[in-house]
Amino acid sequence: MKQGSGLPVFPGVAIGKVVVYQKAKRREAVSSGDAAVEQAKFDAACETAKEQLSRLYEKAKAELGEEQAAIVEVQMLMLDDLDYLEAVADEIANGAAAATAAAECGESMALVFAALDDEYMKARCADIRDVSQRVAGILSGADDFKLPDGSFLLAAEDLAPSETIQLPRDRILAFVTQGGSSSSHTAILARTLNIPSLVQSDIDLQDAAQCEVLAVDGFTGNWYMDPDAETLAMLTKKQAEAAADREALEVYRGKKSITKSGKQILLCANIGCPEDAEAAVAGDAEGIGLMRSEFLYLGRDSLPSEDELFEAYKKVAEIMGERPVVIRTLDIGADKQVDYMDLDKEENPALGLRGLRICLTRVDEIFRPQLRAIYRASAYGNLNVMFPMVASVWELQEAKALCKQIREELEAEGIPTKDVPIGVMIETPAAAVLAHELAKEAAFFSVGTNDLTQYTLAVDRQNAKLGRFYDPYHPALMALLAHIAKSANEAGIWAGICGELGADPKLTETFVRMGFSELSMAPGRILGTRKIVCESEE
Ligand code: PEP
Ligand code: MG
Repeated sequence: MKQGSGLPVFPGVAIGKVVVYQKAKRREAVSSGDAAVEQAKFDAACETAKEQLSRLYEKAKAELGEEQAAIVEVQMLMLDDLDYLEAVADEIANGAAAATAAAECGESMALVFAALDDEYMKARCADIRDVSQRVAGILSGADDFKLPDGSFLLAAEDLAPSETIQLPRDRILAFVTQGGSSSSHTAILARTLNIPSLVQSDIDLQDAAQCEVLAVDGFTGNWYMDPDAETLAMLTKKQAEAAADREALEVYRGKKSITKSGKQILLCANIGCPEDAEAAVAGDAEGIGLMRSEFLYLGRDSLPSEDELFEAYKKVAEIMGERPVVIRTLDIGADKQVDYMDLDKEENPALGLRGLRICLTRVDEIFRPQLRAIYRASAYGNLNVMFPMVASVWELQEAKALCKQIREELEAEGIPTKDVPIGVMIETPAAAVLAHELAKEAAFFSVGTNDLTQYTLAVDRQNAKLGRFYDPYHPALMALLAHIAKSANEAGIWAGICGELGADPKLTETFVRMGFSELSMAPGRILGTRKIVCESEE
């Protein structure tokens, strides 16, 4: 038995066979010396690539919706692109091996696209590279990522959003990654799927590939390879207890979350993509307290269009119906980077151009389409909008002015909109200290305790080595939280918590006592929190 640990992102125990996710490695391509043979090999590889992409397209469409599947569709079209096919044929005629020609022509086309002025064409560069490498991979015998039948735990260095969309969500028992953070895409997906997972783990992928059984304890953060009988018995017992605990919570399904003294707390879900709203409903969420819009911008190679954003927000609004949905505008920067935005490399990205700062800096390109999409979708449900990383009152005022302008613009265009309450994420110490001032301008507050902890304590939330210094129970943080709730209550607006701390059972009662009336968390944590609220004397 080997064992180690990582940062747990969801409690529970998973035991099963492990799949190690490794990006495919290619063998050196050697030409047969016969151009006709190489051309035939290339043509056959294109057919195989089309079949693979068509399976991937169907799967992505069924599991993630048309929008995400469109990434695959674009790549399928490229395999019929005459410029590409002719360039490859010429190179093969000049003596190149099929795999070399496939990869090299793809790369030179990608570079041409990257240099174009048109943003859309520029963004196709990554697709060309991806699809030509797929063909080259087939030709040079790279191992395609193979999944076993049945359920499995997935071990990986890290997983990009474009990689997670290819995974069969219903068969994954746990993720164990070497990289990632508690707010990485893998972690958020793990919470949405209710699977015990570890990020920043010390797992050795070569060892993992050799082991028969991997076990993950999402309560302690430990992993075990081929656990001995005693460990296995301990884990199986824990697993059974966790299942019984989950079952016992079912009595709270469909109930309101009201304390014994009559305070009602709205228990909402945090989501990343529109499909997660279904998990929120399954978890009995009373609304969406945080939709992290940036996930609509990740795993792709160009900015989503206003229409794409509109469809995504509309889908969430429709799934949630009357229940409130809080959409956070784009919070890219710091730990969440996208190449196509060409953001400068910063010395201190957590203190850099991120969150609302990017939106207020690149209004026409980024903020406007997003706000138009939110207002257009407002007609389909109960939408609220909130801005991340606010530090000054003027930032909120500027964003609010733009919202007003956009609503008027849409009305003038004859597009129906509803009033969208505008709130602020309180996640900088400045916003917390100034909560009483911000409360005059905001319709609600939602505290991002992940960042508020990082900035208040000056401790990087991404740095696993700082572990015990990242103390979300720190008295300074508790004092800020109390001040935020008090300021909101005095101004007659609601305040909630959508950071990780919102789901911390040790603090639920404290938050109720402070005056928070909404807590937002992973869907799988809702029933457990409702039990605590209902049993509370507060
Ligand atoms: C937070 O900072 O607590 C938060 C909810 O936002 P994110 O984790 O996405 O930065
Ligand atoms: Mg944050």
